Amino acid sequence: MAADLEAEVPAIDKSLLECSAEEVAAKWLQATDLPKEVYQHLTYYVPRIYCKGPNPAPQREDMLAQHVLLGPMEWYLCGEDPAFGFPKLEQANKPSHLCGRVFKVGEPTYSCRDCAVDPTCVLCMECFLGSIHKEHRYRMTTSGGGGFCDCGDTEAWKEGPYCKKHDLNTSQTAEEEDPLVHLSEDMIARAYNIFSIMFQYAVDILTWEKENELPPGLEMVEKSDTYYCMLFNDEVHTYEQVIYTLQKAVNCTQKEAIFFATTVDRDGRRSVRYGDFQYCDQAKSVIVRNTSRQTKPLKVQVMHSCIVAHQSFGLKLLTWLGNVIGYSDGLRRILCQVGLQEGPDGENSSLVDKLMLSDSKLWKGARSVYHQLFMSSLLMDLKYKKLFAIRFARNYERLQSDYVKDDHDREFSIADLSVQIFTVPSLARMLITEENLMTTIIKTFMDHLRHRDIQGRFQFERYTALQAFKFRRVQSLISDLKYVLISKPADWSDDLRQKFLEGFDAFLELLKCMQGMDPITRQVGQHIEMEPEWEAAFTLQMKLTLVISMMQDWCALDEKVLIEAYKKCLSVLMHCHSGFADGEQPIMLNMCGHSVETIRYCVSQERVSIHLPVSRLLAGLHVLLSKSEVAYKFPELLPLSELSPPMLIEHPLRCLVLCAQVHAGMWRRNGFSLVNQIYYYHNVKCRREMFDKDIVMLQTGVSMMDPNHFLMIMLSRFELYQIFSTPDYGKRFSTENTNKDVVQQNNTLIEEMLCLIIMIVGERFSPGIGQVSPTDEIKREIIHQLSIRPMAHSELVKALREDENRETGMESVIEEVACFKKPGLTGRGLYELKPECTKDFNLYFYHFSRAEQSKAEEAQRKLKRQNREDTALPPPVLPPFCPLFASLINILQCDVMLCIMGTILQWAVEHNGYAWSESMLQRVLHLIGMALQEEKQHLENLNEENIVTFTYTQKISRPGEAPSSSPSILAMLETLQNAPHLEVHKDMIRWILKTFNTIKKLRESSSTSPVAETEENIMEESSRDKDKAERKRKAEIARLRREKIMAQMSEMQRHFIDENKELFQQTLEELDTSSSKVPDNSPTVSDTKLTALGPEQTRVTEKRQVVTCILCQEEEEVKVDSRAMVLATFVQRSTVLSKNRNKIIQDPEKYDPLFMHPDLSCGTHTGSCGHIMHAHCWQRYFDAVQAKEQRRQQRLRVHTSYDVENGEFLCPLCECLSNTVIPLLPPPRALFNRLDFAGQPHLTHWIRTVSQQIRTFCLLQDEESASSNCCGNSEKMDQLQLPEGFRPDFQPKNPYSESIREMLTTFATATYKVGLKVHPNEEDPRVPIMCWGSCAYTIQTIERILADEDKPLFGHLPCRQDDCLTSLTRFAAAHWTVASLSAVQGHFCTLLASLVPNEKHGNLPCILDIDMLHLLVSLVLSFPAIHCQDFSGVSLATGDLHLFHLVTMAHIVQILLTSSTEENGMDQENTNSEEELAVLALHKFLCQCTGSALKEISSGWHLWRSIKAGIMPFLRCSAMFFHYLNGVPAPPEIKVNGANQFEHLCSYLSLPSNLICLFQENNKIMNTLVESWCSNSEVKRYLEGKRPAISYARDSNKLIDLPDDYSCLINQASNFSCPKSGGDKSRAPTLCLVCGTMLCSQSYCCQTELDGEDVGACTAHTYLCGSGVGIFLRVRECQVLFLAGKTKGCFYAPPYLDDYGETDQGLRRGNPLHLCKERFKKIQKLWQQHSITEEIGHAQEANQTLVGIDWQHL
Ligand SMILES: [Zn+2]
Ligand SMILES: [Zn+2]
Ligand SMILES: [Zn+2]
Ligand SMILES: [Zn+2]
Ligand SMILES: [Zn+2]
Ligand SMILES: [Zn+2]
Ligand SMILES: [Zn+2]
Repeated sequence: MAADLEAEVPAIDKSLLECSAEEVAAKWLQATDLPKEVYQHLTYYVPRIYCKGPNPAPQREDMLAQHVLLGPMEWYLCGEDPAFGFPKLEQANKPSHLCGRVFKVGEPTYSCRDCAVDPTCVLCMECFLGSIHKEHRYRMTTSGGGGFCDCGDTEAWKEGPYCKKHDLNTSQTAEEEDPLVHLSEDMIARAYNIFSIMFQYAVDILTWEKENELPPGLEMVEKSDTYYCMLFNDEVHTYEQVIYTLQKAVNCTQKEAIFFATTVDRDGRRSVRYGDFQYCDQAKSVIVRNTSRQTKPLKVQVMHSCIVAHQSFGLKLLTWLGNVIGYSDGLRRILCQVGLQEGPDGENSSLVDKLMLSDSKLWKGARSVYHQLFMSSLLMDLKYKKLFAIRFARNYERLQSDYVKDDHDREFSIADLSVQIFTVPSLARMLITEENLMTTIIKTFMDHLRHRDIQGRFQFERYTALQAFKFRRVQSLISDLKYVLISKPADWSDDLRQKFLEGFDAFLELLKCMQGMDPITRQVGQHIEMEPEWEAAFTLQMKLTLVISMMQDWCALDEKVLIEAYKKCLSVLMHCHSGFADGEQPIMLNMCGHSVETIRYCVSQERVSIHLPVSRLLAGLHVLLSKSEVAYKFPELLPLSELSPPMLIEHPLRCLVLCAQVHAGMWRRNGFSLVNQIYYYHNVKCRREMFDKDIVMLQTGVSMMDPNHFLMIMLSRFELYQIFSTPDYGKRFSTENTNKDVVQQNNTLIEEMLCLIIMIVGERFSPGIGQVSPTDEIKREIIHQLSIRPMAHSELVKALREDENRETGMESVIEEVACFKKPGLTGRGLYELKPECTKDFNLYFYHFSRAEQSKAEEAQRKLKRQNREDTALPPPVLPPFCPLFASLINILQCDVMLCIMGTILQWAVEHNGYAWSESMLQRVLHLIGMALQEEKQHLENLNEENIVTFTYTQKISRPGEAPSSSPSILAMLETLQNAPHLEVHKDMIRWILKTFNTIKKLRESSSTSPVAETEENIMEESSRDKDKAERKRKAEIARLRREKIMAQMSEMQRHFIDENKELFQQTLEELDTSSSKVPDNSPTVSDTKLTALGPEQTRVTEKRQVVTCILCQEEEEVKVDSRAMVLATFVQRSTVLSKNRNKIIQDPEKYDPLFMHPDLSCGTHTGSCGHIMHAHCWQRYFDAVQAKEQRRQQRLRVHTSYDVENGEFLCPLCECLSNTVIPLLPPPRALFNRLDFAGQPHLTHWIRTVSQQIRTFCLLQDEESASSNCCGNSEKMDQLQLPEGFRPDFQPKNPYSESIREMLTTFATATYKVGLKVHPNEEDPRVPIMCWGSCAYTIQTIERILADEDKPLFGHLPCRQDDCLTSLTRFAAAHWTVASLSAVQGHFCTLLASLVPNEKHGNLPCILDIDMLHLLVSLVLSFPAIHCQDFSGVSLATGDLHLFHLVTMAHIVQILLTSSTEENGMDQENTNSEEELAVLALHKFLCQCTGSALKEISSGWHLWRSIKAGIMPFLRCSAMFFHYLNGVPAPPEIKVNGANQFEHLCSYLSLPSNLICLFQENNKIMNTLVESWCSNSEVKRYLEGKRPAISYARDSNKLIDLPDDYSCLINQASNFSCPKSGGDKSRAPTLCLVCGTMLCSQSYCCQTELDGEDVGACTAHTYLCGSGVGIFLRVRECQVLFLAGKTKGCFYAPPYLDDYGETDQGLRRGNPLHLCKERFKKIQKLWQQHSITEEIGHAQEANQTLVGIDWQHL
């Protein structure tokens, strides 16, 4: 049995209405046992109000509850009528200065990046707009619900804590005032009584777990057998599963099931069945059975209706409490007191505790209600916030464990309140010192990660899915730790020190479990079978990264803490490595007379781990020691003697060697997991506490030991010791020709090792290592990022490290190093490196990836070449080291280093094969450069006291000692300078030699006896100059050559154009001559006055048109009898011009499109890319596409961007979406325009003749239809006199070739099919109407675009549109030849009858309801069907002219009838011109005709103005129409926007510029016609104001106006609730940019059925608003959505940009966004040009994943 969603409401129990709140309250006031009294009341009434049937009736329940249950409480509380009591309370209240607004889902929130204490401090929109922060750097986000506005919280803001609104209150209220003073004693007592009873009741009933029994005091005497089958929400089962199961279990429809499922998802539970126990239990078992297969079953309970009733009221009560305390801060304090009062069971027995501790057992709806209450009570009261914080901290472990086990999202857990409490600095500090919160959090966290290996390290290897799920939830504890640490203490108490260090201990325990986790061993032989788990460990590291950094920040603030922390960290590290050298045979290393002992260890053979957080934390603390100079102040306090440098460096070194070996390809068989780990090790998210700290640790090590020893150990770990320690090893190693792979590997390892040395020496930009400021570090990062290429702000931010406040620190320095370049219409703004910063570029910057390094090198060399500089990239000048690290520098000049350098240079000199690489040399040169820079620096900063110990220049000038007796490094460099194979490095070597000389000079000048420059030097100098000159000459030659090539190329181009121009001109001339040869008495093109139509039409000879088929490349002339040529075309329905979006064609099969309403509600638009094919070539192509797609769809079941079944295809040349083709035709009018006769009839005469013909024609038709029934009626026939020259039996011959005729039908049928959305039927009489309509509509759209852009009518259309309009007009004019002649004649008769009434056609639309352009086009294009049977000598052109004049006059009347001209006297010039007098007369006549319903107007000036303005679009469209129809070129005056456009248009259109003359010239007939038009009853009704009508000129449609500030839209969307699910917030509010409707997109609730398919709100809306095409803005995502039909869609960049010229799709960055008008115009233009579908097609072709999206569900 289906649960009926609209069950009838049972009648209301009379006794309920009779219950008086006042009386009940009075009774309670007298009661001795108040709780008992109240409980009795509830026991009796609650079940009588709530849960009376299968479905809740919330409004009725609320009404009754207010009356019977809450009313008495309010009376009791106030002691009087609450209608007076509450306002009194409110008046007496001194409200707190906290805003506390609780955020709705999707509401915009703002955080000030300058003043917020941490990023969780946010303001609501109202407060933000009234605060000082709106002038600061701020960030905007959308709330996920929960959380509240921090306005007024002095701890949340460094500055400006109050907005204007909340500032007012601060002066009045003293901070610590007790709010209870504003309440009377009585009131306090009553509030206390009623709050305790009701709060207790609500907590008891909500936490009640029995399904069939009521809590004590509430038991019923007689219990009915009414139960609910209650379904609960979980996050395991999908919507689909639940819907499917429900359909089976409670036998409901899919719609009902969807409703249940949505409610369960929203509220957390919903009864799905109501009835006796057995009936409900049955449903329960089906649900459980059906959902228990793979997962744990859905939670279902069969609950007694009374329990559900009390629970419903319990929730209501909590909301009520929340409202009541809103009246008074005093009441709020009382409620807090009640809530936190310890219960009878001691610890944890307060009501607040009880609720918190059963949080995970409550359903979603109940949780959010009580969380809200907590936020509006406990968190709003400063005193109780603190007490609550303590309760929260004491329960922390329990709450978190419950949360981890629970499966609801974090936002539905009480644990989520941690952010509200821990981020308050004073609370956090208090909880740390008094409740030891840090330790609690860390210990709780570790308790949940129990998987350890034998050494006690975390092990994630064999994590089950459930454990992985738990692991994800546990991570929220790290966020809590972050919150606690986020605000750093300014002053330390001993307590804080002690508790922090205790927490630090716990933290070290945690890191200890990570030190060495996930160790790996190199795989040799076989590839690993299974990729080991690595992500969990890295996730942990990543999440902890900020916490580790913050721990160091805390330590840095207090010297005592720092020293203690350092000691603790060191002892843990020593503990970790206690088995360091156990069982290992130490080995002895000897080089250059130095020797050192080390352990035997090979990274390539033994276990190695990337995770070394303890070592890295120690490295960090060491830098702090150096920075704060603690190490010099209190060396005695530090365990420096315990430090064993080899032990410190060992593990970080191993890790770095591992990276080098991976680069060298030695770990290929270990698979991708290792590659990923190495990637993240260097990644910006992790590197600060991984890679960077390993470098620091090596720097620490070198600074504390003999650099020779360090280098030897390093060589040994790199497994390169043999190569460098054995003389001539290199030689052997190259000649032996052993294994090429091994040689290659060793080369890479050497390169990596040299790189590492460069980093150790060069990376000194952290304060504490080098003598720098914090901004130097960030500046350097930016410089190196921008050295690669100019970058957008967001790219740069991504490449930089964010701190705990999500700041990179970039804004403060970016202006110093970069210039900003604004974006254009596409693309984004970019930062470019300032030229003066390139000198700081370091090729071996340690954060470069290899790809970045080579890109940067290329970019920098290119830059140097552009500046005509040499291309050397020498090392930059570096800041000096801090004293603690100062000795590190000696590594550059120690013996082993010199030996390594010498060896490599030797290899380069010998240049023997492959045991050597250029990169190696490049790095050595860089190192030498660094050493020289260093020495130069030392010399320059020399003062009396210190002696320069850095004597690199001297050392490299000395030749090697015996026995190797190699030449000195300097000598080798000089040799290499001329080596032909080292061209690339010449500049660098030259730079080195130059610097060497500079230093020499410096030394000499500083020494007492300056030595004159040696001859050698001069020689060198001059030779260098020569060299330089030579190179300059070469460069010059190269430049000249380049320029010459460029010139040649542009010459070729010009030539090409010239050639074509010649060709073009040639053909023009040919045509001209041919045309001039034809003797013609009518005016030719060269005449000044050009006329587009009528007997006076300018005669043009159509040029021979030869086109090339894009498919077969053959040429074809466009002629009537040749093979058809076609244009790829896209026909679509359009509402772009619509003035009435509510109008929809109801039944397309019966719809009559003959007359277009002037609201243009739905037109048919034709567009083309302009590419031409043979009809048969296209047919073949289309058949092939169709066959291929059908096969593909069967095989792969994928969609394409085009729908073949609907006749869609892509243009074979430009891939533009098309759905039919349009034939190219020669001008069709010429074929039927017979010879002109003199004496063409005037309008009056012509109308008479045509009317006669029509009458004949109608009679004939009647006859025909009568004769099919029975014979007879022939008397009428006999009476009929055929008008002169009219031959109704004549059937004209179709002049077109078979192939053209076929295409005429093809395109016409397509237009009919698409325009009406019906099945194709070429016989349908409406086919020609649709063709004419599309012609008229397309012309109108293009006219609007041109008008909006203020462009002249002709000469500014792109070729494709020009071609399309020509073809379309000619096609529409020729189509009647393939249609049924009598049908077209019939259309003409009806159309004409709308203006020239006849007896046969009644019931035609009045002239107010006809779009005149559509009428004109249809009349003119259907006229040949009548005219072809007229042999009286009237020309077709005469007909055209008269039809045009007739329609123009009708339009003038239309305009006059509908114009809302107001005489306001403004701007009026009393010229009383001819036109004005004429129009006044006409208007007067209209007033007469309408029986004075039309108001008289005395200002001719105004009338004439409004006619001119109103008729302009029509005239412009007509000019285009006749231009394309007859091919008369437009007069040059219309091709520019000049004055007198109106007059020029009139002249071109053969109209008098005083349009009213038309009426005067033909007044005989016109008076009759105008009278007939005005006497129409609809016109009367309109003039009487009983119906609307369109007035002229119609405004162009625009997309809606968007606000400048994007947050306005977010706010608007957050106030929008789903229209279908009663006040619920919509998850994906989406704005239609066409009409401004807000929709609830992408959601089950708002799905509707469309043609038998479920579609989302957007797709459904497109069918109403845009006939299938839609443009939307997804407000939460800040993304534009294009939709077309059900299957097509794409996303488009939004028109909102931040200050850096970037969009923020997805609103991830939160920078303030502002409307970019140009970009919005571009979107609007796409819409106006009908290019949305085309745009989607291109997007889908470019990105295939877009094809797979279910667009119809949006
Ligand atoms: Zn606020
Ligand atoms: Zn405020
Ligand atoms: Zn601010
Ligand atoms: Zn072809
Ligand atoms: Zn094309
Ligand atoms: Zn819309
Ligand atoms: Zn909805």
